[in-house]
Amino acid sequence: MISRVKEFKDKELEYEEWCEKHQNGYVFNRAGGKTGNVLHTVGCWHLNVPSRKGTYTTRYPKYCSENLADLLSVVDGLSKPNSWRECSICFNK
Ligand SMILES: [Zn+2]
Repeated sequence: MISRVKEFKDKELEYEEWCEKHQNGYVFNRAGGKTGNVLHTVGCWHLNVPSRKGTYTTRYPKYCSENLADLLSVVDGLSKPNSWRECSICFNK
């Protein structure tokens, strides 16, 4: 894991703090499977659902970076043996 990508797994407070400090950052949700690996921006509503607050990193690990290129350099490996996609909402594609 390159140093500019942070892993948050069962680290809810640290994750929330990171998002607070990096509001223009990126969050990769490694939920696994064929459709679960998704790249989001910090502000995406998917990452801010009140009923999921407090369980974001306990349900699935999150990989976060301010730098999209840094994060993109690890998402292929993290997604194995599956692939990943960009969230169509926050990447607006
Ligand atoms: Zn999103």
